[in-house]
Amino acid sequence: MQKTTLIIHGGAGNIYKGMLTDQQEIDYQNGLKYALDKGYEILKNGGTAPDAVIAAIVAMEDNPLFNAGKGAVFTKKGVHEMDACIMDGKDLSAGAVAGVRHIKNPIALANEVMLHSGHVFLSGSGAGEFALQQGLATLPDEYFFNKERYEQWIEIRDSNFYQLDHKADNLKGVAPNPNHKFGTVGAAACDAQGNIAAGTSTGGMTNKRFGRIGDSPVVGSGTYANNATCAISCTGHGEFFLRAVVAHDISCLIEYKGISLHEACDFVVKDKLKKMGGEGGLIAVNRLGEAHFSYNSTGMNRAMRNSEGQEIVAFYGD
Ligand code: ASP
Repeated sequence: MQKTTLIIHGGAGNIYKGMLTDQQEIDYQNGLKYALDKGYEILKNGGTAPDAVIAAIVAMEDNPLFNAGKGAVFTKKGVHEMDACIMDGKDLSAGAVAGVRHIKNPIALANEVMLHSGHVFLSGSGAGEFALQQGLATLPDEYFFNKERYEQWIEIRDSNFYQLDHKADNLKGVAPNPNHKFGTVGAAACDAQGNIAAGTSTGGMTNKRFGRIGDSPVVGSGTYANNATCAISCTGHGEFFLRAVVAHDISCLIEYKGISLHEACDFVVKDKLKKMGGEGGLIAVNRLGEAHFSYNSTGMNRAMRNSEGQEIVAFYGD
């Protein structure tokens, strides 16, 4: 019988035991579990992998704990510019948006791009126009305001530094804020037909400027799905994931070298990317329903459920 699997992440980075308060740990646990429930319900009822991915990501975009949708970080100009991508492994169709504002669920917009635009990748105001045309929910800046994110931004807005919402190394001299929240979000699924899909959604990096776009919405870098190989969603320092073309690289290792999902992910994340200095991780699934978490950071907010009754919700390194 075909195994169904849903695997999700809510950001990777400097996440270690003792860093989260008991309450924060409960909040992340609940946030991940709720997204897992929403996405897995679709798979359980015979729904498709892309629909499960969207349901799980929408749940996290609506949760201010995560750096996507409602909880998106602030740019240098004090606004929220969000990126998202979805890819369907069945036919390699894909939809992505970058630098979109006021969109409640950027992953839903990416899905509209995939299904109804005749294009793959829309950006900025043009993507916004398309969202209006498709009748997607748009909300004022106030909806995206979040006190913790605002404080993260205030710490660095007068500098030219930008910051992963979970990493303070590049702040050079500014003390890391222990209350930083984590979280680009992503999901990958294998449905009862053995089709796979992946999606990613993010606010990118705090204090980003010049219309900076990370890896998350870029097909092959932060997001990729191909029934023949794997479905992958990444999180981490986007500039490195872009240059290493991480998700497609893993797919190629599986396709051309015939190595396992597990080995291919760990080679790219823990060897290749690490040697480049790229911190982060990813989630992966294949059409057998096998799933894998791989990260070279201290931890990664992550969860997985499958039809064999396995369930994992975890944050810290193992
Ligand atoms: N990869 C995302 C970016 O660089 C950030 C993240 O995963 O936290 O925009």
